[in-house]
Amino acid sequence: MPTVTPSGPASYTLRMRVAVFSTKPYDERYLGTAAEGTGHELQFFEAHLNRSTAPLADGFDAVCAFVNDDLGAATLLRLAKNAPKLIALRSAGFNNVDLDAAKSLGLTVVRVPAYSPRSVAEHTVALMLALDRKLHRAYARVREGNLSLDGLLGFDLGSRTVGLVGTGKIGVAVAGILKGFGCDLIGYDVFQNQDAIDLGLEYVELKALWERADVISLHAPLTPDTHHLVDSYAIANMKKGVMLINTSRGALIDTSAAIEGLKTGKIAHLGLDVYEEEGDLFFEDLSDTVIQDDQFSRLLTFPNVLITGHQAFFTVEALEAIAHDTIANITAFAEGRESGNEL
Ligand code: NAD
Repeated sequence: MPTVTPSGPASYTLRMRVAVFSTKPYDERYLGTAAEGTGHELQFFEAHLNRSTAPLADGFDAVCAFVNDDLGAATLLRLAKNAPKLIALRSAGFNNVDLDAAKSLGLTVVRVPAYSPRSVAEHTVALMLALDRKLHRAYARVREGNLSLDGLLGFDLGSRTVGLVGTGKIGVAVAGILKGFGCDLIGYDVFQNQDAIDLGLEYVELKALWERADVISLHAPLTPDTHHLVDSYAIANMKKGVMLINTSRGALIDTSAAIEGLKTGKIAHLGLDVYEEEGDLFFEDLSDTVIQDDQFSRLLTFPNVLITGHQAFFTVEALEAIAHDTIANITAFAEGRESGNEL
C-alpha cells in the first residue's frame, strides 16, 4: 500500500488524505503525478471498495473509487461513520453509487464526466472493424500458418446503417468517426443532440432503430430505464445478421437473450467491452483459474464474439485527464468550492 506524499511546497492550504481503491500500477502513476504539488496524500489500495473493505478508509478525508467498486447504501453508511466526506469517482458512469444514500449521509460525490470520449469511441469502432473483418480470427490463423480466407468474409462498413443508442459525448464521437466512413447514421436518445444532427444523424424511435440498423452501438448510461434495454424483444426486432456493440455498461444487454440471439444467428457479431457481471472478472489476470461464470464462458465459445475487459477508456490521454480532473475535484472540495462535477 504505497503512499504518495508530494514533497514540494503545497499549493493549497487544505490537504486531503485520500484512500484510493481498486488501484493498479497505472493508477498510482497517473494520480501520483497529478497530485504533485497539491499537498494531497494518496494511499493506494488494490482492494475493491465494498462494505467489507470500507474500514480501510477510516480516518481519510476522501475516498477515490472506480467502476466496479460497490458504493451501495451499506458501504456508504460504513464509510460515513469514520471521516470521509467526499467520494471522488475516477469514472464518468456512476451507476454503482446509491446517490440518495450518499445525500442523506451528507457525502459529496464527484465524477469525471468527460475525460476522453474519443478513447471510448475509437475502441468502439475498433470492435466494429475487428468483428466485421474477423481480425481476431485472422490473427490466430496466420500465426498458425493458415492463410486461407474461408470464413473471413466481411462487409463494407461505410455502406451500412449504424444505430447509436445514446448520443451524448461518446455517441457523438462515434458518429463523427463513422461519418468519415460514409455510414448512414440513425440514433435514439431521450434528448436530441444538435451535434449529432449536424453530423447527419437521423433520430428515430427505438423500435425503428432495432429494425433498421445493420450495426447497433450502445452509449446510454446504465439506469433503471436502460437496464436490459437489449432483451429478447429488442433482439427479435433487429435485422437478421445484426452486429451489436456495447462499450457502455454491461447490464444494458440481457446476456441470456444475447446468447440466444447468437445461437439462432440473429446476432452475427457481438462486441463487448463491458459485461453485466464483470465485477468479479474484469481487471484481473484469471488465466490460471477456472472461470465460474457460465454465461461469460459460453460467450467466449462463439467465434463471432469479441470481448475486451473494460479497456475502452484505457489510453494515455484518458488516464492523464482522469487523474487531472479527479485531483482537481478533490482540491475544489478541500477549498470549499464546487468543481461542477458534483452528482
Ligand atoms: P453522456 O452523458 O455524455 O451521454 C449519455 C447519453 O445517453 C445522453 O445523451 C443521455 O441523454 C442518453 N440517455 C440517457 N438515458 C437514455 C435512455 N433511456 N435511452 C437512450 N439514451 C439515453 O455520457 P458519455 O460520456 O457519452 O458516456 C456514455 C456511457 O459510456 C457512460 O454512462 C458510461 O457508462 C460508459 N463509459 C464506458 C467506458 C468504457 O471504458 N467502456 C468509459 C467511459 C464511459
